[in-house]
Amino acid sequence: MNNETIFSTENNIHADVYYKYPISISRGQGAKLWDSNGNEYLDFMGGYGVSVVGYNNAYVVEAIKRQSEQLITCHSSLYNDARANFLENILKISPLGLERIYIGNSGAEAVECAIKLARKYTGKQEIISMIGSFHGKTMGALSLTWNPKYRNPFEPLLSDVKFIPFGDTKKAMDAISEKTAAIIVEPVQGETGIHPAPDSYLSDLRQITEKNGSLLIFDEIQSGFGRTGKIWAHEHWGVIPDIMCTAKGIGGGLPLSCTIATNEVMSKFKLGDHTSTFGGNPLSCAAGSAAIRFLLDHELHKKAENIGAYMKDGLQSLNKSHKVTREVRGLGLMLALDLRFDVRQIILSGLKKGIILLYSGRNILRFLPPLVITEDEVDHGLSILDDILTEEDRTRFG
Ligand SMILES: *Cc1c(COP(=O)(O)O)cnc(C)c1O
Repeated sequence: MNNETIFSTENNIHADVYYKYPISISRGQGAKLWDSNGNEYLDFMGGYGVSVVGYNNAYVVEAIKRQSEQLITCHSSLYNDARANFLENILKISPLGLERIYIGNSGAEAVECAIKLARKYTGKQEIISMIGSFHGKTMGALSLTWNPKYRNPFEPLLSDVKFIPFGDTKKAMDAISEKTAAIIVEPVQGETGIHPAPDSYLSDLRQITEKNGSLLIFDEIQSGFGRTGKIWAHEHWGVIPDIMCTAKGIGGGLPLSCTIATNEVMSKFKLGDHTSTFGGNPLSCAAGSAAIRFLLDHELHKKAENIGAYMKDGLQSLNKSHKVTREVRGLGLMLALDLRFDVRQIILSGLKKGIILLYSGRNILRFLPPLVITEDEVDHGLSILDDILTEEDRTRFG
């Protein structure tokens, strides 16, 4: 299919719910993608944070090849070696004390599971979520997602959801009550432009929930799996939740998610309480095991820490030398550049010059590159961004 056919077919038939970039991708390797005309792109978007181990990662490709010749599908009512293997692997990197794992297929599903688990375990209904949070778009997860633009058209959603300001301990203490099943929080908020939790906030939430008999849920779907320089972002603060949600990168690019809880919490789920036909399928599990092995063999989280610091420095110099920029934020390779203007034009210019950029709201560029990205690639991408920002300065400020 040529580009024009691909564009018009997707535009005419695919549900019109995605902001579309005007390129069609057909191949990837490491941190690079190629479109169907053979043009090369450096991917600073990292497939929305999914491509942690890089595109076409050799470990993952090999695992998928081998598993696809063996067995692709197997319902979790039957035992399976690829699934058992994945469970061992994910357990190896799970936070201390979180030892029971529900396997799903997407981030939103991991959150759905966490909601049901928190309600069943505590016998309470209310969930406290954060202003600025993102937890997915299925009805339950959507109820906890802050942006009213996403929620309003689909009301009524779950009742008993409260939104409190992210980072404000006092507001959390005021909000929690005997009705509260759980507080859910991203250790680093992603969707609203990369905001790491303030210093003692997560440990404050840990104390507040414990004292109140409520659970603490960390959504590490974007911040986890090495992205921020630790395997899990919450390690930066040394606070362990009762339930953790992970997805995006853990399947090496295949649909895979986990809801990880303490034995005690997960034991509240009884036969049939929560299941999924595809959850724990051998192909995704094999890819997930390969992704975890690659992460550990190459200490990808340390790469994220080092290259992330290097990239953050680079962004900070861009911030100093340009008028349209405002602030740099983030941890590891989960970074943001705040601008004074709409970034849409910058994204389109980036595509013409060979970088794929991601927005975060209207004025923010968000960087979630594959953790295998090299310093040379970061230099290359930032020099393109430098050119674009120079051009922006000129058009905005003359
Ligand atoms: C992407 C994301 C989700 C939703 O994941 P899906 O796989 O799109 O359902 C939930 N929480 C966070 C923090 C995310 O970044």
